[in-house]
Amino acid sequence: MALPERVQSIYQDVIKRNPGEAEFHQAVKEVLECLGPVLVKYPEFAEAKVIERICEPERQTIFRVPWQDDRGQVQINRGFRVQFNSALGPYKGGLRFHPSVYLGIIKFLGFEQIFKNSLTGLPIGGAKGGSDFDPKGKSDNEVMRFCQSFMIELWRIIGEHTDVPAGDIGVGAREIGFLFGQYKRLTSKFEAGVLTGKGLVYGGSQVRTEATGYGCTYFVEEMLKAKGNGFMGKKAVVSGSGNVAIYTLEKIHQLGGKVVAMSDSHGVVVDEDGFNLETVKQLKEVDRRRIKDYCDIHKQAKYIDGGNIWDVPCDVAMPSATQNEISGNDARTLVKNGCIAVGEGANMPTTPDGVQVFLAAGVLFGPGKAANAGGVATSALEMQQNAGRDAWGFEETDAKLHQIMKNVYQHCSDAAEEFGSPGNLVVGANIGGFIKVARAMIAHGLV
Ligand code: GLU
Repeated sequence: MALPERVQSIYQDVIKRNPGEAEFHQAVKEVLECLGPVLVKYPEFAEAKVIERICEPERQTIFRVPWQDDRGQVQINRGFRVQFNSALGPYKGGLRFHPSVYLGIIKFLGFEQIFKNSLTGLPIGGAKGGSDFDPKGKSDNEVMRFCQSFMIELWRIIGEHTDVPAGDIGVGAREIGFLFGQYKRLTSKFEAGVLTGKGLVYGGSQVRTEATGYGCTYFVEEMLKAKGNGFMGKKAVVSGSGNVAIYTLEKIHQLGGKVVAMSDSHGVVVDEDGFNLETVKQLKEVDRRRIKDYCDIHKQAKYIDGGNIWDVPCDVAMPSATQNEISGNDARTLVKNGCIAVGEGANMPTTPDGVQVFLAAGVLFGPGKAANAGGVATSALEMQQNAGRDAWGFEETDAKLHQIMKNVYQHCSDAAEEFGSPGNLVVGANIGGFIKVARAMIAHGLV
C-alpha cells in the first residue's frame, strides 16, 4: 500500500533517524499508511506534529547485564527498556528475552504497544524492553542470576506509577518472580503494581496466564460472529507452542473448534484428532521440552522436521509465535486451502505482503495490536487489583477480559467504517488506537 503524501516525509525521517531497524520501520509504516483520512478530519494533529512525536520514543535505556553461568564463566548481555509514550498512563509493556533482540525489535514492539494499550480502553502508556539473553537451555539458577543483574539496572526507571513491565517471549512466571524479588530487595518495598504477570500467591491476577490466548480467541469469535459464524466445528492451526499458543488451544477447544497443528522453531506437529491440552501444558510449561516430544505420547500425531505450519489446511489460522512468520506466499497457501479467518496472537506475525493477500481475499483479519490486546488488558486489571489491594476470582476476571475484547473488536470495526474502510480491522485498529493517544498528547501541550 502506498503511503499518503502527507506522511511520506515523516516515514523517510523515521528511516533516517533509526537506521538498520527494519522491524521498527515496518511497524511505523503500517500505522502511517492508515492515518491519511485522520489528518483530513483532525488537521490539529498535523499542526501539533503528533505523528512525528509519536514516532520518537520519550526515553530509551540500554544497559550492560553481566552475569555468571553455572561453570563460573562471565557472560555479558545487553538490556533494553524503551519508554515510548506515556500520554494515556504509566508506560506498560512486556520484556522479551531472546537472542534476536536488538533495539529495532524493542522499538517495534514498544511502538505497537502504544496503540494496543490505547485500544484496551484502560489507562496505560506504551513501552517494551528485554535482552538478547536466551533462557533456552539455561538452568533456573542461571536465569535467576541473569534476572537479578538485569533488575539492578532496571529498578531505577520503573515503578507502579512510572513504568510497569511484564512478560513476552522468554519471560514467564519464573522470570517475573526473580525480577520482582530483586526489585523488592533493592527498594525495600513490596510494590506489587511494579510488574504484572506475577504468581497468584504474591499479587498476580487470575486469568493473566491465559489472557493473550483467550483474548485472541474471543476476538476471532467476534469476527466470525459478525458473519453469522463461530468456532464450532472449525479446524484451526496455531503456530508456536508457548504461552499464547497454549491458551489459544484451550479456548478454541472450549468453543467447539479443533486445533490440528502447533509448532516450534524446529518443526511442526500435526494431530488431526485435535491437540491434547494437558500434554502440551506438561511438555512446555513444566518440562520445558520441544513440541516434537508430543508425538512420543500421542502416536497418531506426526512431526514434520523443519516443516511450514501454514501448509497445513485449516479454517482459522492463529499465528502465535513471533514477528513476520507468515509471508505473502504462506498467506496465499492459507487462502488457497480455504482459510477464512486469521487472529494474530503474536506481535506483527504477518508480513505486509501477507496482510494484503488476506485483505484482498476477504479473509477476516484480526491484527495483533487488537487481537492480542487481552494480555496487556489483563495486566492492567492486575494493576487495578494491586492498587485496590484486592484479588478477583477467575470467572469475574475472565468476564472482564471477554468484555474488553468485544469492545476492542467493536472499536476497530466502528473506526474502520467511520474512516472509509468498512471491515478492514488493520485500518480500524491503527486509527482507533491512534486518535485517543493523539487527543491526550494535544491536551498535554508540547511535551
Ligand atoms: N507482552 C505482551 C504484549 O505484547 C503483554 C504486555 C504486558 O502485559 O504488559 O502485549
